[in-house]
Amino acid sequence: MNVPLLDLVAQYNSIKDDVLAAMMKVVDTQQFIMGPAVPELETAIARLSHAKHGVGCASGTDALLLPLKALNLKPGDEVITTPFTFFATAGTIHNAGGTPVFVDIQPDTFNIDPAAVKRAITPRTRAIVPVHLYGQMADMLELMQIARPLGVKVIEDAAQAIGARRKMDGEWRVAGELGWVTGYSFFPSKNLGAWGDGGMMVTSDDAAADRLRRLRLHGGAKQYHHDEVGTNSRLDTLQAAVLLAKLPHLAQWSAKRREHAAYYSTALAEVRHVKTPVVDPANEHIFHQYTLRAERRDALQAHLKKEGIGHAVYYPVPLHRQPCFAHLGYKDGSLPQAEQASREAISLPIYPELTRTQLDRVIDAIRGFYR
Ligand SMILES: *Cc1c(COP(=O)(O)O)cnc(C)c1O
Repeated sequence: MNVPLLDLVAQYNSIKDDVLAAMMKVVDTQQFIMGPAVPELETAIARLSHAKHGVGCASGTDALLLPLKALNLKPGDEVITTPFTFFATAGTIHNAGGTPVFVDIQPDTFNIDPAAVKRAITPRTRAIVPVHLYGQMADMLELMQIARPLGVKVIEDAAQAIGARRKMDGEWRVAGELGWVTGYSFFPSKNLGAWGDGGMMVTSDDAAADRLRRLRLHGGAKQYHHDEVGTNSRLDTLQAAVLLAKLPHLAQWSAKRREHAAYYSTALAEVRHVKTPVVDPANEHIFHQYTLRAERRDALQAHLKKEGIGHAVYYPVPLHRQPCFAHLGYKDGSLPQAEQASREAISLPIYPELTRTQLDRVIDAIRGFYR
C-alpha cells in the first residue's frame, strides 16, 4: 500500500457538496471580483486571528510583500528573518527593496532564535519576519519585546500556522494576534487550502489595513484615483467561497493532525536514529508538517521512495546559502543550526484523512530502514 505525502482528493470527497454549492452561488451571480464572499472571509479570518482587520490578496507571497512594501524600505534597510523557511519569506524582503538579514534557528522547534535576532539588530533594522514553521508559533513574546521599544515592525509569516496558538503570560494568544501584520497563504496544500492561489493579511492597525487595501488595488482607495503605486493582488471570490465552506472544518482537521502526530511520536520514540518533533510546552501545534530529524536522512528518503511512502525535505538548502543571496556574504557554517536542520529534516504524511493502517505503514517503513 502506497501512502501519499498529501491526498487532497480524500478531503475533497468529504466536503465536495458544500464547496461546489458555495462556488455555484458565485457563478450564478457572476460576481467574480471582490464579491461578498471576500469581505465575509476577511471578517472570519480576522476573528480567528484575534485581529481587527482581514485584507484578502492573491497569495501568501503577496500577504508578505504588501506589508513589507508598506514600510517604504530604502536601499540598505534591513529585515531580520530565518533562513530555514520557504523562499517567499526572504524573496519578498528583497522584492520590497530591503536586505534580508538571516539569523539562526532554535534547534528544537526549528523557529527563529530571539537571542540571535537581538544580536542582529542595527540602526538599519526596520522589521523582523518570524515564521511559525511547520505549524508551531515562534516565541512572539520575546520577539515583540525586542521589536517594540525600537519601533521595529514584526510581520508574522503564518502561512503554515493558521489557528496555531501559544500560551503567553498564562493566556492563549494566536498566530496573527501580536504582530503588526500577519500573512496567511491559502495554497492548496496548506491547512486551510483554496482550490487555487490565495492569501490574506490580518492586522489590528487601522491605518495599516487601509494602506494594504489600497496597495492590493493599484494604490487607490477610489477607482481611477491613485495615491501611490500598488498592484493587482485581489483574493478571487471563487476562492473565498471555497475557503468559507472549508473554514468550519479547520479546527477538527488540525486536531486530527495533532492526533496523528502523537501516534507517530509514540511509535517512533524507540527508534534511536530519529528525533521526533519537539513541541514547545507553551505551544498548540497545528502540524502543517510532521518533521523528523533523521540520521542518514538521504538514505532514508531513498528507502521511503522505494516503499511507496510519501515524504519531503522542507528545506534542503537554507536561504542564506541560495545562489541568489550569495552577495549577502554568508558562508557554509555561518548559521550552523539551520544548516544542520537542512541536512536532517524529513517530513512525513500528516494530512487529516490518513487512516491508522496508513500511519502504521509509514512507521513500519521507518523502523524497517533502521533495523
Ligand atoms: C506557502 C508559504 C508561503 C507562500 O505562500 P504562497 O501562497 O505559496 O505564495 C510563504 N511562507 C511560507 C512559510 C510558506 O509555507
